[in-house]
Amino acid sequence: RAPLLDVRDLRVEFRTREGVARAVNGVTLRLHPGETLAVLGESGCGKSVTAQAIMGILDTPPAHVTGGQVLYRGVDLLRLPENDRRKVRANRIAMIFQDALSALNPVYTVGFQLGELFRVHRGMSRGDAKRRAVELLDQVRIPDAKRRVNDYPHEFSGGMRQRVMIAMALALDPEVLIADEPTTALDVTVQAQIMGLLAELQRERNMGLMLITHDMGVVADVADRIAVMYAGQVVEEAPVYDIYARPAHAYTKALLESIPRLDLKGRQLNVIRGLPPALTDIPRGCAFHPRCAYAREICGIEPPPAYQIAPQRIASCHFVREVLGV
Ligand code: SF4
Ligand code: MG
Repeated sequence: RAPLLDVRDLRVEFRTREGVARAVNGVTLRLHPGETLAVLGESGCGKSVTAQAIMGILDTPPAHVTGGQVLYRGVDLLRLPENDRRKVRANRIAMIFQDALSALNPVYTVGFQLGELFRVHRGMSRGDAKRRAVELLDQVRIPDAKRRVNDYPHEFSGGMRQRVMIAMALALDPEVLIADEPTTALDVTVQAQIMGLLAELQRERNMGLMLITHDMGVVADVADRIAVMYAGQVVEEAPVYDIYARPAHAYTKALLESIPRLDLKGRQLNVIRGLPPALTDIPRGCAFHPRCAYAREICGIEPPPAYQIAPQRIASCHFVREVLGV
């Protein structure tokens, strides 16, 4: 099966006065048609920067894409002229963010903004565009869409606004949707609704969905595969079931042990000790070694290779067997 998106050895640096921050250090990821891939990691691990590089919205200093390929149906987006790239971005790969307000224009109604997309990109008449806008609001389960299409962004609640942003992203029927912390700003019940909606839309449209999150709890039910990132690298990649049942990387295991669980209410959680490294000063060897309960001498010296531990499983850890408990 050919992947929709095939990211190979992607590298991004930020050249700042404080030094060179290596935000993305050789990320390799694949997204297949109809698949939901969760990209998981603590804030600052490079997951958003990876998404922005895929979208091609990272071309201005201090950000520099210094290496790798972003193949979309076999074409390297990093080497595409800006005009063609803009077309891919408008029609094929869409992105949503945590903050719906900043993605919507406050001075136009939601219907106008959606309608513009159909008029500009599909050459629709005003009337047809408006009808499509209502349909889309309906598809993202906004009640009373016919009336709400005339409302302004600030007239929607946070959750409803997120639905509007999803509608905008899906307007031109993209094959890939990248969602960067789409529910982080919302309260827990609304989070679950939006996550459920994304999962339904992904199935209905058979899209590739890349779900970026720091919250292991929110992706368990919706992801097919998970890629865990640390310090600008993918450290483990596996089908969702395997990640939760038997993590192979010490960092994934530590993340799992730090998820609040209802059944352990009141029990002390294992929070991962220490902080993620500054990207201007990534530790040698395995970047996780200063925080790792499994670390031994080699971990501070040799970067661990990516071990293929099963057909769909990769983990970059010197002590995969110990972590797996085999
Ligand atoms: Fe821990 Fe070493 Fe594995 Fe890194 S390579 S996760 S430091 S055991
Ligand atoms: Mg982020």
